[in-house]
Amino acid sequence: MSGAYDELLDATIQYLEELRSRGRRHVAVSPETLRVLALPVTSPQPIPGPEVRPRAEAAPPTFSGVPASVARSASHPASQAEPVTEIPLALPGKNLPAQQPLDPKVKAAAFARLRQRALACQKCAHLAASRKTVVFGVGNPDAQIMFVGEAPGADEDEQGEPFVGRAGELLTRIIQATGLQRNDVYIANILKCRPDTPGQASGNRKPTPEEMAACIPFLHEQIDLIQPKVLVALGATAVEGLLGKTLGITKLRGTWKTYRNIPLMPTYHPAYLLRNQAIIEKRKVWEDMLAVMERLGMTISAKQRNFFLKS
Ligand code: URA
Repeated sequence: MSGAYDELLDATIQYLEELRSRGRRHVAVSPETLRVLALPVTSPQPIPGPEVRPRAEAAPPTFSGVPASVARSASHPASQAEPVTEIPLALPGKNLPAQQPLDPKVKAAAFARLRQRALACQKCAHLAASRKTVVFGVGNPDAQIMFVGEAPGADEDEQGEPFVGRAGELLTRIIQATGLQRNDVYIANILKCRPDTPGQASGNRKPTPEEMAACIPFLHEQIDLIQPKVLVALGATAVEGLLGKTLGITKLRGTWKTYRNIPLMPTYHPAYLLRNQAIIEKRKVWEDMLAVMERLGMTISAKQRNFFLKS
């Protein structure tokens, strides 16, 4: 993509994020823009400038079916006389009407652009300097279940894929216990870069609020595009990143929450299960997964129901 196109795209995204931080809930978009957004993008279009006209707060919200992430990916001049459609700005934790399925080509192009932007991200200069890779996410972009973790560790940073270390191996076994494979689901993190630990040869640290705030728009856009039927938040940081600060994970786990109209199941992070091998803790995570399977109408065998129960 051209430098000018990228600059314009960044300026548009920044402008939309500023509106959102000031409490703006919708932007007005012309039919012509919606038509252009639905076209597959093969090369950058010459675009004169962001066409986003904030509307008066009082009018009732409508929903066009085009997610804000796609709206962010292109823009086009609109005639002032044309009627406009309103697109909600993605707000974490807020319920929105169900999204319409995306055209597969539009989705693939938007996903590829999002990945490209994440891979080039320099928002956290210290992390950009210390990282080996940007760990964007892995799996099926049409997945029904999306798992969200905290941040890449050393193994993930090395391989550029989330959950490939010991905690990842356990997550893979949990997924397989449901009858699915790792590539049936989608896996991502709140943070796309490994939190640096200057002066330490190994170890992990929790992402800072600033790092989370800088990175979370990528995850919001991933979720907008994947449109999973269920989100599974692995551990306290994942819940905090998606829903904001709420109760501790011990209180939250096993209780359905909602992330912008998507049912969200908080559960323990697999790293917790590695530290605490008690069968009762494993059963808790498994019960959370049974709830997810039930919600999705998946077949559950008697054997599956009884995992980690004493006979
Ligand atoms: N822990 C996480 O939260 N994410 C990973 O990708 C790996 C370990």
